[in-house]
Amino acid sequence: MSLCFSIAPVGTTSDNQPRSIAILGATGSIGTQALDVIRAHPGKFQVEVLTAHRNADLLIQQSLEFQPNAVVIVEESLYEKVRDALFSRGIKVYAGKKALASVVEMGTIDMVLTATVGYAGLLPTINAIKAGKHIALANKETLVVAGELITKLARQHSVNLYPVDSEHSAIFQCLAGEFHNPIEKIILTASGGPFRGKNRKFLETVTREDALKHPNWEMGAKVTIDSATLMNKGLEVIEAKWLFGVRAEQIEVVVHPQSIVHSLVQFQDSSIKAQLGLPDMRLPIQYALGYPERLKADFPRFNFMDYPELTFEAPDVDTFSNLSLAYEAMHQGGNMPCILNAANEIAVAEFLQKKIGFLHISEVVAQCMQTIGYVQQPDYQDYVDTNDETRIKAFEIINRSWKD
Ligand code: NDP
Repeated sequence: MSLCFSIAPVGTTSDNQPRSIAILGATGSIGTQALDVIRAHPGKFQVEVLTAHRNADLLIQQSLEFQPNAVVIVEESLYEKVRDALFSRGIKVYAGKKALASVVEMGTIDMVLTATVGYAGLLPTINAIKAGKHIALANKETLVVAGELITKLARQHSVNLYPVDSEHSAIFQCLAGEFHNPIEKIILTASGGPFRGKNRKFLETVTREDALKHPNWEMGAKVTIDSATLMNKGLEVIEAKWLFGVRAEQIEVVVHPQSIVHSLVQFQDSSIKAQLGLPDMRLPIQYALGYPERLKADFPRFNFMDYPELTFEAPDVDTFSNLSLAYEAMHQGGNMPCILNAANEIAVAEFLQKKIGFLHISEVVAQCMQTIGYVQQPDYQDYVDTNDETRIKAFEIINRSWKD
């Protein structure tokens, strides 16, 4: 079994030294919940870096509260606004994509929480690993795009990748004390999203607003749409392959609409371990940031009497073909998952802007997978080129097929 984390702690949270954290994507759903966790544990963590894309107001507010050493606003036109608000407080302010990619190298950082959304997380994560920073990984797209490269670099630099995604955190928690026992199978649970049980006819007319109503989780817009199309589960299957060193056929997806059983591991003696809890991302975020300690938390407790029925069913991969496409991309390997991801990012963004319909998302992904050149053993530049090329192709397909 090859794991991308070890049982070695990252520095420590149990002595008097706070763990020093950089949060990439501090203003998003994961980023703000990470700051909730940090706020609840004074003395355990030091916020060293905060970054945002365009939400300068929230970044300023967070920085005034947490007093980081440095912040990055990716949108360069907002630099002066952020600098004027924070410079007099002794906070270093940077702007732009290059700053985001290099700020993770600061010597004072122990751990980087990658909570940006999409492909934009790739280069900062690579640089953080090369600089020897442990990673709390929320940005699953990084592992989907370049899992082989990332896990190789993590091994070379003795860096641990701590999963933040609730399913992967559940598996990680199930593996505590089991690191030397081979995994027979990983069972990832999926809520099924807002359209569970619906057919393609129904999905033809669903709107952006319908798709953004997730039954159990409050998340950013992109991952919420991915959950509705089941692409999120497809991305998570690929993420699990790289994090836990298993083969595609060892990963099964089960729909569990209550989102209480967060995922399961089956061992070679047939025993299955599961991790349960109410759907609350603060728990897996806290587990990753505080590992190996289980920090005390007042999160609401699960009560079986409130959930007399926990149900499980097979995913409908005919209606929600993104899950099959992700398995296919994983089987093909090479740059195919990168193609899948880039096409999906464009298609989801266009759906969110009401430019294409819900079912068109998987059509764009499938067409890009058929047309973009396959590279069996990509290096970093191949991923960059594949990502660029696929984005252009996805726009071409959308403009040709569905725009006036
Ligand atoms: P959000 O959309 O809520 O937040 C994204 C964050 O990234 C924001 O801080 C945003 O800044 C920043 N950002 C957006 N685009 C860029 C860019 N191009 N360059 C740099 N920064 C950027 O996303 P989530 O928090 O929901 O998700 C973050 C990641 O975590 C995703 O990969 C998602 O799949 C994963 N994840 C999320 C879960 C959740 O519950 N939300 C659960 C499990 C995984 P700004 O606010 O300024 O736009």
